[in-house]
Amino acid sequence: MSKPKVAIITGAGRGIGAATAKLFARNGYAVCINYKSDKKSANDLAKLITADGGQCITVQADVSCENDVERLFSTIDNALGTVTVLVNNAGILKKQSRLEDMNAERINSILTNNVTSYFLCCRAAVKRMSTRYSGLGGVIVNVSSGAALSGSPNEYIDYAASKGAIDTLTKGLSLEVATEGIRVNCVRPGLIYTDMHADGGEPERIERLKDIIPLQRGGQPEEVAEAIYWLASEKSSFSTGNYLDLAGGL
Ligand code: NAP
Repeated sequence: MSKPKVAIITGAGRGIGAATAKLFARNGYAVCINYKSDKKSANDLAKLITADGGQCITVQADVSCENDVERLFSTIDNALGTVTVLVNNAGILKKQSRLEDMNAERINSILTNNVTSYFLCCRAAVKRMSTRYSGLGGVIVNVSSGAALSGSPNEYIDYAASKGAIDTLTKGLSLEVATEGIRVNCVRPGLIYTDMHADGGEPERIERLKDIIPLQRGGQPEEVAEAIYWLASEKSSFSTGNYLDLAGGL
């Protein structure tokens, strides 16, 4: 009998998450498309996947809230079966700013949306996947950022630091669950064409910066999705606690 294939992708209505959900569905995964507020994008994506012969559900949940995460995972248990792949992708960015102009509200919002959310989803996934709890194993892929390495000075150090935390989470958790049937890896995208740059206050940011990228262009969400899919697949079966940079050479 073939292994069950159930994937939850957080923040999957748009951008990198949407491209990832499409790719997993095309490869036979039953997919949960999680979103926070953009119901229309999530529903449109679900229609597309279903029309293509794929299986999916959409679940509204703010993954920075403990109760929402519990509801999200139990909805998946009931509708699709136990999750075998978690892609922690949901994330936010605030307007470009120097550190001395950031207040506690902004910093806490970045940290709860970008870090607490990943911890909470990892916790729910480990409880279901780990052989310690009679699970069948599974894979977690965290979406970090090249910002974890650059620090994003004069733009958003808060966001960059939140992604640094994801790199550390990836390393620590990968070692904690290595003997329990779970692999944990991470992708670090660079400049990718999504709505996120508009949230940072500069929709055309990639156009401004693309000349400094060795490959001389921004990346597409689909290019990140392929790397996530590979890390979730058996083809990367000896990889855990690793980082895959997708930044065009930056
Ligand atoms: P995006 O187009 O702005 O999409 C972000 C998604 O996250 C949206 O679907 C949003 O939901 C969801 N989201 C945000 N907070 C959430 C929460 N608390 N609960 C549930 N969903 C939440 O961004 P993207 O560029 O695809 O980013 C995806 C990931 O890639 C993020 O982790 C980001 O940091 C990372 N990344 C992006 C780039 C880039 O250049 N774009 C580079 C490096 C890393 P709604 O649609 O409901 O608002």
